[in-house]
Amino acid sequence: MTTSKFSVNFIRSDFPNLHIKVRGQPLTYLDNAATTLKPQVVIDTVNCHYSEGVSNIHRGVHYLSERATDAYEQSREKIRAFINAKSVKEIVFTRGTTESINLAAASYGRHFLKSGDEILISGMEHHSNIVPWQMLCEEKGCILKVIPLNQQGELEKGAFEKLLSDKTKIVSVVHISNSLGTINPIQNIIHKAHAKGAVVLVDAAQSISNDRINVQDLDCDFLAFSGHKLFGPTGTGVLYAKEALLEKMPPYQGGGDMISSVTFEETTYNQLPYKFEAGTPHIAGVIGLGAAIDYLNALDRQGAKKHKEDLLAYGTQKLLEIPGLILIGTAAKKAPVLSFTLPHIHPHDLGTLVDQEGVAIRTGHHCTQPVMRFFKIAATARASLAFYNTREDIDRLVAAVINAQKVFK
Ligand code: PMP
Repeated sequence: MTTSKFSVNFIRSDFPNLHIKVRGQPLTYLDNAATTLKPQVVIDTVNCHYSEGVSNIHRGVHYLSERATDAYEQSREKIRAFINAKSVKEIVFTRGTTESINLAAASYGRHFLKSGDEILISGMEHHSNIVPWQMLCEEKGCILKVIPLNQQGELEKGAFEKLLSDKTKIVSVVHISNSLGTINPIQNIIHKAHAKGAVVLVDAAQSISNDRINVQDLDCDFLAFSGHKLFGPTGTGVLYAKEALLEKMPPYQGGGDMISSVTFEETTYNQLPYKFEAGTPHIAGVIGLGAAIDYLNALDRQGAKKHKEDLLAYGTQKLLEIPGLILIGTAAKKAPVLSFTLPHIHPHDLGTLVDQEGVAIRTGHHCTQPVMRFFKIAATARASLAFYNTREDIDRLVAAVINAQKVFK
């Protein structure tokens, strides 16, 4: 499978999707911020569940149900260890980052916030870290405040501290921006927010695959991420929250599995984390996510990170050599996300043209319309890299962009 020393060529053989042809060309997959490809072991694990292990979990005494429950709960333990949470009680499975944030807003927010309380987010949030808070504000009369950006796509210096006050009850900030690549100083934000008594949610949708996350070191109250951006199946995600908070929060949805007992007069709720997991979950997906964690644990992640940093530097240099190209998002601390615009070519046209050459990039607002508005653009073309990408992928992107420019001249 993998080696302890990072070798991109070796790693690439683990991802079957990298070896397909698209429009008769080899695939250059540069859309990793949208979703990552899956290693064979994840595909096999999901297949194996559906071909040999199908069963519902938690309620069965038969062999298959016990086996599926074990595998499902092992995934929870793998994720606990992966982010160094104190207890498996703090790992709530969801459908993804979006549902995780909605859970926190609907349960913690509705229960603990009142009219006039402030929620602080940043100007580079994904819509899924804006809209749930807006809905909460509408319902409870809370006020949404936004940390402004600078032209590099970083949080404006000193702005967070100015906006933070005794009225701030929740700070919900993206760790790594999906449209700009900016790495936010999350530890500092958490520390300062706690000093004012606010709880902090970290949107780790992009950062979970970029570097090691240690929730105890960070001391975040909530951490939200998606399995599909972590080389696992779609439809899986995690909300990490401190046990003391989860204990105090009311359930998010009602139904099977989240109860301890039900009568028509009264229902009592299950213990953590099941109180927050109503209904049959994505069993195969969660077990597959466990396989993705095993895969990552076997990988030289420091080597993978270095490789991505090299690709970011190389990609930045090569893209900037293209006449007229403007990089959107030039933060000093950046993850390998290359968002850009070109004069006279709409990003959608560019995306369509480079696709003809087998190069998959994403174009649009990337669910961050306020970021587009801030930079006074409608959309960007975005190449986002994973550890299985190569310099050759960048070269193919650059050649395809230059060819597209010729079409529009
Ligand atoms: N936040 C960020 C920073 C993201 O990049 C994404 C996905 N693009 C999300 C939230 C939402 O994730 P999902 O669609 O998996 O729920």
